[in-house]
Amino acid sequence: MLFTTDWLGNVLADNKEPTRQSIEIAEVATDSRKKTENALFVPLTGDRFDGHDYLEEAINQGAVAVLWNQTRKLPDFLPPDFLVFFVEDTLSALQQLALAYRDKVNPAVIGITGSNGKTTTKDLIASVVGTSFKTHHTKGNLNNQIGVPLTILAMPPDTEALVVEMGMNHAGEIETLSNIAKPDYAVITNIGESHIEYLGSREGIAAAKLEIVKGMASEGHLLIDGDELLLKRVRQRHRVMTCGFDSGNDVFIKQVNLTRDATRFQLSDGGEYTIPLLGSHHALNATFAVTIARLLDIAGDKVRQGLAALAQTSMRFEILNGRNGSSIINDAYNASPTSMKASINVVNRLEGFRQKVLVLGDIFELGEQSKPLHRSVADSIDHSVDAVLTCGDESAEIASAVKHQYPSVDSRHFTSKQALLNALEAYVEADTLLLFKASRGMQFESLVEQFLDPS
Ligand code: ATP
Ligand code: MG
Repeated sequence: MLFTTDWLGNVLADNKEPTRQSIEIAEVATDSRKKTENALFVPLTGDRFDGHDYLEEAINQGAVAVLWNQTRKLPDFLPPDFLVFFVEDTLSALQQLALAYRDKVNPAVIGITGSNGKTTTKDLIASVVGTSFKTHHTKGNLNNQIGVPLTILAMPPDTEALVVEMGMNHAGEIETLSNIAKPDYAVITNIGESHIEYLGSREGIAAAKLEIVKGMASEGHLLIDGDELLLKRVRQRHRVMTCGFDSGNDVFIKQVNLTRDATRFQLSDGGEYTIPLLGSHHALNATFAVTIARLLDIAGDKVRQGLAALAQTSMRFEILNGRNGSSIINDAYNASPTSMKASINVVNRLEGFRQKVLVLGDIFELGEQSKPLHRSVADSIDHSVDAVLTCGDESAEIASAVKHQYPSVDSRHFTSKQALLNALEAYVEADTLLLFKASRGMQFESLVEQFLDPS
């Protein structure tokens, strides 16, 4: 049981029927298609749907109570013991409920935001903290105004540590999430260019991420990417710890070694760690996890055990077997300029391949700066790369910048995926490494499928 409807009534200050019975709520559900058990159904309203239309279905799936927008008409028939809580707005009520439940369970809360690396860092922290505390964490990428409250409301009542990913598109959203989750520990993984279209500048992005301290108590700890000036120079009333590669940071990464399936790194205090992920950027993500672990007094061997046991959320930087003995990195899950450069850096550093091919697509939501930001991707390419094949509209900028900077690289742009596929065929050979990276909407996973080893 999560809570009783008596408790819920108190939270919502709903005193209309003090005599009605109290029901135990086992889960909070917004999707009426899913089987639930003793659920509180929260109908949400989107552009193309209205959850209020699905109450009957939710009841058939196991709902025993509902939060109901007071302006909507209730269906004529409801089961006899069914409880209805009228609210002004179901999403705000869901958020209010999440905040109250967070306080009721009162775990140590670790909130993670940043332009790139939130999910990875969240998974790393959950894995490490989970070795020593009963830990609940965001499933997958449920990091928005609905996902964060639902994550909190799915936490078992005996949870000791809650690890929450917080995402945003617009200013003000992280503040709302921070006021709901009230993190004791907050992490800002980095500042990139994602959503610059809405936030105007990198300064705007940094300010939006820094909203994560709005709901944090003054004794809370803020961990930041200390190599990012926009974060470093901000004066905070909280205890700030900087992590990064620069030796001026509180915790810094001294050495990074990549193998085919792991990254090994050493921290400033001499501690050595291995993660089943590729790339120095992941060493930074893991450094946040190590630092949080230290603040929580988790022993070093537990930390190492937690990092090694990382359960990766799928479709992130996997090395797969491709046709004809090639190797394929499927990083088609998403892209920003920062993450594309990070992935290319990994390809630069991976040894033992005869040929390296980058298959890059458009990065969305970059607004006016889209063209220069696409061009800037070329800066991360080094001489170990043999071909850069791009597809889309904006990514033509990458191909032309590469052509300019590295005339010997086979750099070509294609306007159709089919033309790109045809060109790629020539590269699917033994000991060739192919990286696929683009924004999610480019659907590069459909390209990846064509080149995977069918056996
Ligand atoms: P989303 O906005 O989709 O939730 P996210 O912030 O959760 O993204 P991840 O899913 O962890 O980020 O990683 C997305 C991409 O960012 C990956 O392709 C990864 O290579 C890259 N990345 C991860 N960590 C960093 C980092 N610290 N700096 C730069 N790039 C990174
Ligand atoms: Mg994420």
